[in-house]
Parts: sequence; C-alpha cells; structure tokens
Amino acid sequence: MQETWLKVLERVRKNVRGVEFRAWFKPLKPVRWDDGVLTLQVKDAQFQAWFVEHFESVLIRALEEETGKPIQVEYSVLDAELFDHVKAEEERKTPNVPFIESYSFENFVVGNSNHMAYAASKAVARRPGKAYNPLFLYGGTGLGKTHLLHAIGAEIRKRVPRMRVLYISSEAYMNELITSIRLKAREQFRVKYRDKCDVLLIDDVQFLSGKPGTQEEFFHTFNALHAAGKQIVFTSDRFPSEIPEVEERLKSRFEWGLTAHIDVPDLETRLMILKKKAEVLGMELSDEVANYIAVRVTDNVRELESCLHNLLFFNRAQNLPITVKLAEEKLKAHLRKQARRITIEQIRKTVAQEFDLTEDDIMSSSRKKSQALPRHIAMYLTRRLTKASYSEIGEKFGGRDHSGVISGIRNIEKKLKFDSRLQQIVEELEKKLRH
Ligand code: ADP
Ligand code: MG
Repeated sequence: MQETWLKVLERVRKNVRGVEFRAWFKPLKPVRWDDGVLTLQVKDAQFQAWFVEHFESVLIRALEEETGKPIQVEYSVLDAELFDHVKAEEERKTPNVPFIESYSFENFVVGNSNHMAYAASKAVARRPGKAYNPLFLYGGTGLGKTHLLHAIGAEIRKRVPRMRVLYISSEAYMNELITSIRLKAREQFRVKYRDKCDVLLIDDVQFLSGKPGTQEEFFHTFNALHAAGKQIVFTSDRFPSEIPEVEERLKSRFEWGLTAHIDVPDLETRLMILKKKAEVLGMELSDEVANYIAVRVTDNVRELESCLHNLLFFNRAQNLPITVKLAEEKLKAHLRKQARRITIEQIRKTVAQEFDLTEDDIMSSSRKKSQALPRHIAMYLTRRLTKASYSEIGEKFGGRDHSGVISGIRNIEKKLKFDSRLQQIVEELEKKLRH
C-alpha cells in the first residue's frame, strides 16, 4: 500500500503547485485500503472539508490512473494527539471553515422523504436562532444530513457574513475537548464554542453515546448558546430517545425545538437525484440506465452517487458507452450489497429454528429463560443487522416497549463479553443471515 501511495503522490505532484502539494497532500496518511475504498487520516474536519472541496478530485484521478480501478476515498479524523488544534484555532478571530460548495440547497433534491428536513433547514438558514432552535435532523446514513448542515452553514455565512458559524462533527468536538484538557486550554475551548460562536452545527451526535465527559461539556455549551438565542443544529442517525447511553437531560434538549426525519427516498426522488448528480458530473445518463440503478439501489443516496462515479470512470477510462449492459457488468458489487439486506422476519425465523422454537415463542411474553434468551439474541441481531429503531423492534417482537428492547439487547451485549459459547452462537447466526 505504501508503495502505491508514493506513486500516487508522484502523479499528484505533477498536477498541483508545490505549496499546495506540501500543505494538502503531504499531511495525508493512508490508513486502510480495502474493497476499492481508501481511508485517509486527516488532522481535523476543517482540513477534510477543504480538501474534499479543492483537491479530492485530483487525488482520485491519480489513484485511478495508478491502479486502473475506481476508488472511493474516505476520511478518518486524527485523534487529538499530535495536533495542536486548540492553539491554532484560538488565533483565528473568526472561524472560517469552508463549507463544501456542492452541498448547497440548490443541489439538494427535495422529495417526500426529506421535504420537512429541507424546509426546516431553509427556515433556520434564513432566520438563525429564530425559527426552530435547536433543529434536530435525523435519518440513516447517506441520506443527506451532512449535506443539509453544510447548506445551512454556507447560506448563513453568505447572508450574514459577520455571523460566526462553526461546523464540527461530534467526534471532532470530543477530540478537541480532550486536546484542550491535555494542553490545559479548556478556557479557550469554552470561549470558542460558547462565546465566539453564533451558529453551531454539530454532525452525528449519536457519537456522543457512552461519552459522559463530552456530554457534560456539550450540555453546558448547549445551554450557553441556547440562552443567548444562538442557533444550534444537530444531526444524528436516529431519534434522540433512541440514542443509547446519552444523559436524559441532553436528549430532552435535543427535542426542545424541531425534530425532522429524513427517510429513504422513493423511486421518483431517486431518479431525480440521479439526474441531478449526472448533470453536476457532466455525464450523459439515459432514462433506462437511471431506472436500472434507481430500482436496485434503494436506501442510500451515497450509493446512488457512487454508481454514477463508477460508470463515469469506465466511460472515461475505457471509452465504454454508459448503457444498461455496462451497469449490469460494473455495478455488481453495489447491487449485491443492496440485495443482502436482512429483514426482521428473517432474523426471527433463523433464531427460532436455531433454538427449536416457533416464531410465536420468540414473540411471546413468556419470561422463561429458554425463550427469553433467544428473543434477546434476535433483538440484538436485529439492531446490529438492520436499521430498525428500538420501537420498531419492540413492535416486531410481540409489542414490547422500547425500554424492554434496550434491556434485552444490553443483556446480550453484557454476556457476550465473557460467554464464549454465546459468542459462537451469535457469530454463527450472523453468518447464516448474511448468506
Ligand atoms: P449523511 O450525512 O446523511 O450520511 P450525506 O449528507 O453525506 O449523508 O449525503 C451523502 C451523499 O448523498 C452526498 O454526496 C449528498 O450530496 C448526497 N445526497 C443526499 N441526499 C441528497 C438529496 N436529497 N439531493 C442531492 N444529493 C443528496
Ligand atoms: Mg453525515
């Protein structure tokens, strides 16, 4: 991997200026390379945002030329070590994080699945602190949460340039907090997030789960900003009360303003998204090919995009016309990923069989251990392998409420730590379900 990486850098060097190369490519550290996805470690979210906007395409071209395969790049933000973030930040009068330009309201395709989140985001961008505060956007991966957050940030900055808008993922927030503690710069951290900030956009708050120290600080940040009438927007992969191991007082604050769900897009919206993305990429996309993809890739917009990138790659690199045939051939891996989606019914059935029970036993209210354990295993697997929420799981397992589901799942998680027999059972069930 290191060798290829060096060759890729050689290629890049020819296409960018020396200063750019040193500032933006030198610091990248490849940490994983599998299945056509290269993960790069970067120092922080700001660096990532800027890099993605300005240099990612140069890098991807070099990668693809070097390896002859389509490559996707992902990022992992460096943990606090090595990086003296707080001090650098402190010197900046106004934080000036670049937002990803293509993540704009104009480029966001609105459909039934997301119109409420879109409308709420627009309202917040127009009247920060006045429309809904906080705004809490939630939904599965790849459905446009980060996109909307950037759109809000960019729009506010454009309309009211003096407003200090901070965008950060909750993971980066935590890392920064830890660094600030280590460097005894806690006060600067507070000043940055409580005083010198007018709009705070926090991505992926589900990451705060099980991090009580960060939650504590965050709680105070929230209170200070909210009391001052400053806008806060959160995103999360699930509804506040569904995030495990987050303090109640914080969850309740998440729900103080407006919560808006982003659902998976329907077929019509998926088609519109494909058209829009193709237009942005400057690629010809026939209705047939768009249909072929939209029918098969159903629950993730990022996947839709990545299908287009793949086709475009083969089109440009090997001069192949973009046809249904090409899609059939080249998108196999994507489509397989979709087909492998596992349902709650399958899980119930498989677990019941394994323990010689009926599905009714699994769903019954019996507390007998011979039924309760398989039931908890099934709930645990459902949580792991599907996108079902706790309440949905409760429903599908005989109408339990969500606290019952959580304690069942916890029970398994706890046992798995020391019970190797159970580990084996669960692993095998998972293997069976995945095939
Ligand atoms: P999330 O943060 O919810 O995981 P992202 O915001 O990163 O998802 O979106 C993944 C990709 O899909 C991005 O490239 C984004 O631009 C695109 N995307 C998602 N929803 C839409 C939409 N409604 N219209 C246009 N692009 C979208
Ligand atoms: Mg996101």
